[in-house]
Amino acid sequence: MASAPKPKKDKGPEVVSVSPLNDKHRVISVARPAREKSSFLTATLKGLAITTKHFFTNVTKGDLIETVQYPEEKIPYPERNRGLHRLTQRDDGSVRCVACMCCPTACPANCITIVPNESDDPSVEKYPVVFEIDELRCVACGLCVEACPCDAIRMDTGEHPEPVERRGDAIENRDSLLARGIASTAVQGGEGADWREDEK
Ligand code: SF4
Ligand code: SF4
Repeated sequence: MASAPKPKKDKGPEVVSVSPLNDKHRVISVARPAREKSSFLTATLKGLAITTKHFFTNVTKGDLIETVQYPEEKIPYPERNRGLHRLTQRDDGSVRCVACMCCPTACPANCITIVPNESDDPSVEKYPVVFEIDELRCVACGLCVEACPCDAIRMDTGEHPEPVERRGDAIENRDSLLARGIASTAVQGGEGADWREDEK
């Protein structure tokens, strides 16, 4: 059962045994040196030497340091940066989302809440009465954007979520997401079954 690996010559804790607990887990027993026998002097001196080296490098070659005086100074984000969410709008300014629930299904952080309702517009089946994103739980993975079939949600604002003092203030609602939104360039309902014909 227990197999004792060869003792290592480095200064770290010595592995005494490795026992399989089950298919996914192992129990690893290590022997640590007694506190009075272990010394951090070498590591401390090494750390001091590195710090001193960086200090003199910075003093003598200060113009090589790329320090950004944030928040007074900001560097532009890459074009594909995943920033704060927004909901895109139809031509009439209404929300483009059709409450299909693809984005909350794809969201690994379960931070999107949608309550759908039937739409009065005969060309639109549903719309979100409630659309909330908890930006504190969001891991900025972008899966909601990828999952959306109609370009209704984007993360291309180039903005951070604002710091908040109360937990509830981190929740973006439909109005705040829509106020940040823009008109979508996608064609509602697609371009028709023969959309590839134009490319011929
Ligand atoms: S970016 Fe990821 S975690 Fe954040 S709301 Fe979208 S799917 Fe969820
Ligand atoms: S934002 Fe897109 S994916 Fe999410 S519910 Fe609306 S239409 Fe569906």
